[in-house]
Amino acid sequence: MADEHLLIVEDEVKLAELLKDYLLKAGFKATCVSRGDEVLDKIRALSPALVLLDLMLPGMDGVTVCRELRKVSDIPVIMVTARVDEIDRLIGLEIGADDYICKPFSPREVVARVKAVLRRARPAEASQRRVAGPIVLDENTRQVTVDGHPLNLTPSEFGLLGVLMGSPERVFSRGELLDKVQGYRFEGYDRTIDSHIKNLRKKIAVHLPGREIILTIYGVGYKLSV
Ligand code: CA
Repeated sequence: MADEHLLIVEDEVKLAELLKDYLLKAGFKATCVSRGDEVLDKIRALSPALVLLDLMLPGMDGVTVCRELRKVSDIPVIMVTARVDEIDRLIGLEIGADDYICKPFSPREVVARVKAVLRRARPAEASQRRVAGPIVLDENTRQVTVDGHPLNLTPSEFGLLGVLMGSPERVFSRGELLDKVQGYRFEGYDRTIDSHIKNLRKKIAVHLPGREIILTIYGVGYKLSV
């Protein structure tokens, strides 16, 4: 829980500092941004674990920021609004936020909400045995078999395959895969995903010659298809 980096988007400086204080005391790292149009760049630069997003912001309003963010990232977002009656409207907009907090809020409430959303966002710790066609992946034993033959995978390859198998047919961007496998994303690191995929394909192909399971979606990323 500790050390997770949170991005606070709030144009009222005093409120932003207050939020930051709460979250630092709860063991998080936190960075404040005051303009909506700076959020996407900050997220790229910091790869925070969660965003607290004020609704009324200069540069770009919170709803638009959230919509834009959802096109490129599934990072958890908690919207912060000054009015209770806005919450229903916000939920109705289906902008992709994970939770909502009303101003004025208590420190305890903010910290509790942040922790709850982060907990939900984390992959389940429980035993996970995933099956996709001839491939079986066991999160507990960290073993993968193809047609019953065990594969020797690196942690990154294992993580990648686990993400792809978790949502077959879903197309993942390289950035998303980086986020999910490494827990962070940097500009220019996308190519590392290509290398991992290449190695993963080679290892799978040994037991499934001529059959491509991890497909390249040009201009987007990769998906698993069996
Ligand atoms: Ca505001």
